[in-house]
Amino acid sequence: MEGVPYFIPVEQAQSITYQTLPVTSVEECGLDDAHGRILAQDLVSKVNDPPFDNSSMDGFACCLQPSATYPLTLKISGMIAAAGQDAPTTLGEGEAFRIMTGAPMPEGADSILQIERCEVADDGATVTLLEAPKPHFVRKMSENLTLGEVTLKQGTRLTPSRVGLCATMGYASIPVYKPLIVGILSTGDELKAPGSKLKRGEIYESNSYGLAGLVQWMGHQAKRYSSVNDSMDALRSSLNTASDECDIILTSGGVSMGEFDYVRRIMEEEGDVHFWRMKIRPGSPPLFGTWNTTPLFGLPGNPVSSHVVFRMLVAPYLRHALNTDGPVEWSVRAKLCDQIKSTKDCLTLRRVTLTSTDEGMMAHQPRHQGSGNLESLASADALTLLQPGQSGDVGEWIDVMVIE
Ligand code: AMP
Ligand code: MG
Repeated sequence: MEGVPYFIPVEQAQSITYQTLPVTSVEECGLDDAHGRILAQDLVSKVNDPPFDNSSMDGFACCLQPSATYPLTLKISGMIAAAGQDAPTTLGEGEAFRIMTGAPMPEGADSILQIERCEVADDGATVTLLEAPKPHFVRKMSENLTLGEVTLKQGTRLTPSRVGLCATMGYASIPVYKPLIVGILSTGDELKAPGSKLKRGEIYESNSYGLAGLVQWMGHQAKRYSSVNDSMDALRSSLNTASDECDIILTSGGVSMGEFDYVRRIMEEEGDVHFWRMKIRPGSPPLFGTWNTTPLFGLPGNPVSSHVVFRMLVAPYLRHALNTDGPVEWSVRAKLCDQIKSTKDCLTLRRVTLTSTDEGMMAHQPRHQGSGNLESLASADALTLLQPGQSGDVGEWIDVMVIE
C-alpha cells in the first residue's frame, strides 16, 4: 500500500475519515418518536416561555409597598384558580388575590407571598401577610424562551428534556436526520453463529452483535450480515451487497498481516484504502477507505479490539457526519490502583473498573486483559486513555473514558 498513511496517531486517523462522509437525509419526526434523534435544523421558539407573567407559588398576589410594615392585612378580592383562566383581573388598592402556581398575575400585582406565610380570616374576607411579598415568586413573561429565538441548534441530540423543550416551543414534529444504515460484516472461516454446534477450531461469532449494539446506541440502524468466509470471492460479493444496501460498512477481522487477512488484501487490490493501522493498544490494525464509494471501516477481529476501535474511530465519525453532540462517552480523571503497561508511541486503552471515593475516582485493572477476552470488557466501567509515554504507574492520575 504505497503512499497510504500507515500506523498513524488516532487524531490523524479520525481526520482522514472525516474527508469521506456519508450522504445524510432529513425526515420529519413526531415528538413521540423523537427521543435519541438528531435535529437536522436550528429550532426557533414559536412562543414566549412563559407566555405571560405567572406565579411560581400557591399564595397571594399583591403589590409590594416599600413603606408597608408587616404583618399587613389586605382585602381578598378574588381567586385566580389556575393557568388557563383568562378572565381579566385587576388588583385594587389594599387588596390581594388568592393565586395558584402557574396562574396569570393580576394586573397591578408585582409580588407573591406563599400561602404558608399568610393567615386568612375565618370569614375569608381578608388575609394577613406575615412578611413582605416576594417579586421573585413571579415568573416573568419570556424569561425562559423568547419568541423567534434559536433555542435548539442543528446537531442537537434529543434527550428527554430536549424533546419536552420542543413541545414547550410549540412543535408537534421536528426535522431530524434519518438514521444511517450501517452494514456489519464479520469475516473468518472459524466463525459460527451462536446457537449452532461448534466443531473443533470454531468459535462463536460475537463482534457483529457488539458492533450492532454500538451502532444502535448511536441512534443508527445496524444491518448485520452473516459472517463471510476468508475468500476473495465471498468477500467481494458480500461487500458489493453491503455497499448497495448501506451508507457505511464495518467489517471485522482480516485486516492484519496474516495470510488470510483478505479484507486488507481486497481493499488494497480492488477498493480504496485511505489509511492502515493506527497507534492504539489494543486495536492497532484498522483500515479505512471506500468500497464502491461507500465508506468502509476495517475493524480488527479480536473482540475487544473491534469494540475499542469503534469507540475511537467509528463513534467520532458518526458524530461528525451529523455534526452532533452525542451520544458521547465521558472522560473523567481517575487514580490508577494497578500498574498499567503503557507504550512509547500508542494510546493505551485498558479496561478498568471504577470506584468513587472521597479522594476521587479509583481505577482498578482486575483481571487478564487479552484483546480476545470480551468478558474483561463486559465487566469494565471504563477504558484508560493512557497517552503515549505516560507511565501507567500506580498512583498516577489519568483520563479514563467511561463506557456503557
Ligand atoms: P483476525 O483479525 O481475523 O485475525 O482475528 C483475530 C482474532 O479474533 C482471531 O482469534 C479470531 O478468531 C477472532 N475473531 C475474528 N472475528 C471474530 C468475530 N466476529 N467474533 C469473535 N471473534 C472473532
Ligand atoms: Mg480472521
